[in-house]
Amino acid sequence: MTTNISGKLLKSVKTVFGKQPAKKKAEKYHFDLYGRYPITLVKGKGSKVWDDERNEYIDALAGIAVNSLGHCHPDIVKIIQKQSAKLMHVSNFYYNEPQSNLAEKLVEVSGLDRVFFCNSGAEALEGAIKLTRRHAYKKGKSGVILTMDNSFHGRTLGTIAMGKDKYQLGYDPIPSGFNRIPFNDVKALEKRMDESVIGVILETIQGEGGIVEVSPEFLIKARSLCDQFDVPLILDEVQCGIARTGKMFAYQHYDIKPDIVAMAKALGSGFPIGAVAATEEISKAFDHGSHGTTFGGNPLACAVALETLKIIEKEDVCEMARVRGNYMKTRLEDLSTNWNAITEVRGKGLMIGVELSFPGAEVVNEMLKRGVLSNCASNNVIRIVPPLIISKEEIDIIVDVLVESIKIVEKNGEV
Ligand code: PLP
Repeated sequence: MTTNISGKLLKSVKTVFGKQPAKKKAEKYHFDLYGRYPITLVKGKGSKVWDDERNEYIDALAGIAVNSLGHCHPDIVKIIQKQSAKLMHVSNFYYNEPQSNLAEKLVEVSGLDRVFFCNSGAEALEGAIKLTRRHAYKKGKSGVILTMDNSFHGRTLGTIAMGKDKYQLGYDPIPSGFNRIPFNDVKALEKRMDESVIGVILETIQGEGGIVEVSPEFLIKARSLCDQFDVPLILDEVQCGIARTGKMFAYQHYDIKPDIVAMAKALGSGFPIGAVAATEEISKAFDHGSHGTTFGGNPLACAVALETLKIIEKEDVCEMARVRGNYMKTRLEDLSTNWNAITEVRGKGLMIGVELSFPGAEVVNEMLKRGVLSNCASNNVIRIVPPLIISKEEIDIIVDVLVESIKIVEKNGEV
């Protein structure tokens, strides 16, 4: 059955999934790590993807907030072709033009002073942890980094040490030097902050934790306490950064500036790249040989990221995220007024969480059958992080499919 969401939306419900050689091979040869949905994606364009049976889907997940310019943006395809034919990789022993140009651009858009490039979100966070520790070391100190309950910073040992217990299970010994406090709890932060703290880290909007924004009071207090104790405020903008919330970085909605920012995901439009930005003073804690990477900052990844930032500015993608996000959020909030299945709608721009009064896994399955890709964060929050170039019509389809799917799950008594 070919599902064509545009036009025939709710009539075409995919219930039979094909043979999928890729699925069969993965089940035999790949580590069995991911709870995967039973489709094999082969093509993408704009906000849409297609599976190997030519079924069409709206991608409301965008590779988890990665494909912000949509799939296969023509200028991104072009730059990959151009740069890969010129120079793909050289060692960081040498300068390369795309890396220096991207560093300059990121300094301009972040308001920070220097940048280090790596390959993923977790690696950016590892860089941020090491920079924070090294900064303390240079001042003759050591101590703990304060982290937040319900946070998610990646899957390396250092990053799981900062977040939820569930990701630490079976990986003892977990690195020490981190202390978790309740997110958005100003009193807990004030109480815990002392000379033993060498930095405070938080996601400006918690993603995996269920799309939970930092409160202005908490962020401002964290900023002033970090100033008072002369330690860095580190923001993880891996998921919420790079235009998703309607500004280049989510912290730009608040009247503060962090000392260190970690970013990745949307920075490369789907091409792997991560980065850490920091103030001049803090960046100086790293000197020759104290940190590094082979692939990080390679000309190909940097050329793609630079093009991504240029497109975001040229096409005013921040404004698109803001306007379309507001439209979607308003539609969802209206629905929640008289419907207790939706308990809360959260988020900024096109980083939206729809909290349900029951677990969301079945709703995600029903959405998939109806041609919309989404996912469930924190058990009962449907995470909607589509490409930022998504159209109003596509947003309407996502909302309609979500509503239909919730109703089906309610009707089937799976709540
Ligand atoms: N930080 C945040 C806020 C994230 O959402 C993620 C991934 O989802 C990471 C860090 C880790 O990024 P990566 O999966 O690229 O290592």
